[in-house]
Order: sequence, then structure tokens, then C-alpha cells
Amino acid sequence: MDQWQKDLKESIHDVETLEKVLGVPAESVRDIVEQYPMRITPYLLKQIKEKGDAIWKQVVPSPEEAYPDSACDAEDPLHEEKDSPVPGLVHRYPDRVLLFVTNQCPIYCRFCTRKRFVGSPGTLTPDNLNKVVAYISEHTEIRDIIFSGGDPLMVVDKLLERILSALRAIPHLEIIRLGTRVPGTLPSRITPAFCEMVKKYHPVYMNLHFNHPDEITPEVGRACGMLADAGIPLGSQTVLMEGINDTPEVMKRLMQKLLAIRVKPYYIYQADLVRGTQHFRTRVEKGLEIINALRGHTSGMAVPHFVIDAPQGGGKVAILPEGTLLHIDDEEVIIKNYEDKIFKYPQPAHSEKIENALPLISSRHNGRRA
Ligand SMILES: *Cc1c(COP(=O)(O)O)cnc(C)c1O
Repeated sequence: MDQWQKDLKESIHDVETLEKVLGVPAESVRDIVEQYPMRITPYLLKQIKEKGDAIWKQVVPSPEEAYPDSACDAEDPLHEEKDSPVPGLVHRYPDRVLLFVTNQCPIYCRFCTRKRFVGSPGTLTPDNLNKVVAYISEHTEIRDIIFSGGDPLMVVDKLLERILSALRAIPHLEIIRLGTRVPGTLPSRITPAFCEMVKKYHPVYMNLHFNHPDEITPEVGRACGMLADAGIPLGSQTVLMEGINDTPEVMKRLMQKLLAIRVKPYYIYQADLVRGTQHFRTRVEKGLEIINALRGHTSGMAVPHFVIDAPQGGGKVAILPEGTLLHIDDEEVIIKNYEDKIFKYPQPAHSEKIENALPLISSRHNGRRA
């Protein structure tokens, strides 16, 4: 057994241990944990500094998970099951697909979009892998696959390699992405052997899940450094959550600390409408406030896209702070910078106007002049 498997075995998953270690009364969350499993790795447990801090809230079950909320009550808010042509595969966008490799995760995030099935037994079977390979082989428009779950790094190297090599054999599949929370919650999983294995299947990208600057520790920095040294471009995904990271200061620190460990911020997600997660939701303006506080005020590299994954399978929609393009016409555009200063940029005289390309916000008649 590898060290990471031993570490995983020592995770907290029952309410009695939770009570002993963190003082949460077992009876207060017994029903919750029966419905939605818990797992807290020894590494992440060490990062909890006090009751109710940002890491605690992400992994310690709460009675609030049972509170009803009719606006936030979907088992499968993104309609992933409707968009699934073969078991384990979601095909929503024209050129890319999502693959569920396993239902297991290093920790069970209390706000998980896939709360409906994570933690239950289940890993991609050889039979289903064959069906996935057959589907993608037939659909030559698919050029990108994202391994997800659950967490694809929860399976042993040998199985992950079997899946990677089966997919790499499909000529039109250009890139493979691994979506994982492992580097930030079970860093011992990132071994030299793992990196050597993944490297053989390049181009492989990884999108890592981080929500708070306290998750960026020396151990996590080391794990990400090994992945980056193996030539894997690293991105991050963050879920915006009340009481965890819903201030511009916390988000700015997170994004800057990510860049410092060679992870490029990719998405900040508005919380999905998943049953049992309503207490994490923020108003949509909060995300815009955060993007406004980042853009121009820190490296452009540190600014991710703020997206809402539209309910009912509408896909990700980037939400942009409005009003940086104040006016556009044949001669010029009027733009506003991060300090609200106004500038004029002339259009080139030699090129023709492009029909249907103007943004809807353009108001030709009341644009302000610089
Ligand atoms: C997020 C997602 C993708 C990937 O989207 P990108 O914007 O390309 O990162 C693909 N398929 C599904 C179903 C998704 O939810």
C-alpha cells in the first residue's frame, strides 16, 4: 500500500471520531452523514485552525444540510444525467466531454454539486470504458476530455494509466484534462511515479480545486511544483461561498497564492442549486464585486472567469462586470478602466464594419464622450 492510501485510510469518516477529534456532537450530524458521506484526510484535518473556519466549513457536516429550500433543491441541477449518451460520460458542449472516473473523493465537500452520488461505491468499469472509447471514436468532433467524478486521482496509477492510454489512442482527441482536489487535500498522492506516468500521455492539463488561501501550504506547493515540473499546465477552480471566501481580500490572496505555486486561476463558480447546500449560496453581485476588485488591481494572470453553471444543463455562462465598453460606433470606442477613467480608442479606417458583432450593451445614441 502506498503512503497516500495509508493516509486516506486514516481519514475521519464516522461521527464518533468526528466528535472525539473536533467536538461535534455525533447525534447532531448522524443523519446527515448517513445521507451524505464525510471524509476528512489527516492532512486537511491539520489545516483546521479553529471551529467554523474556512476549511472546517467545507468538510465538517452541518445540520443545515437538512434545511429545505425550494429554490435550491435539485439532485442533479446541471442535468448531467440527461446529457449522458453512455454511462459515465456527459456530452454537453460541441467539442468536449466529461468522464466520471470514480465516485470516490479525498474529502467530501459539503457543497458538492454531485452530492447525489459521491462517496457511493463505483469506478469506471472496463466494459463502460470500452463504451466511452467507442462513443468518442465515433464522434470525431470531440477533441477534449475532462476526467472528473468523484476525483479521478482516487484510483491507483495502474487503472488511471489504463484509462489514459485507451483515450490517448483516439487520434482526434487532442487534450486530456484531469479535474481534481487531491493536490490540496491529499498531497501525498502526488508522487514521482504518478508524475512520470501522466507525462507519457501529454498534452494533459490539470484543473485543481481550491477555495481559500489557507489551503496553499508548503506541502501543497511541493505537490503542485512536481506536477508543473512534469509539464502539466495547472489551472484552478473555486466555488464562491458565504463565510468561506466571499470577500475581495480573501479571493485576491487566494489567486495570488495560486500563481505563486504555478497554478493559473481559471474559474470562480457561483454555487449550484444543489439540495443540502443552500447555506453556502451568495448573491450574484458578490462575484461581480470580486472580479471588479481583481481586474486591473492585480496581475491579469490572477483574474479567473466568474461563471454560473446554468440550471437544467445550460452550461457555464461567464458573468462580466458591465460597463467597460461605454460606446462603440464606426469611428471609435469609448472604454473605462479599473479606476473608472475614460479613454477613446479609434477604429481603423481601412477595415469594414462587421455586422452582428456589436455587443447588445452598445447604445449608439447616449454613449458618453471622453
Ligand atoms: C465544465 C464542463 C466542461 C468543460 O468546460 P470548459 O468551459 O471547457 O472548461 C465540459 N463538459 C461539461 C459537462 C462541463 O460541465
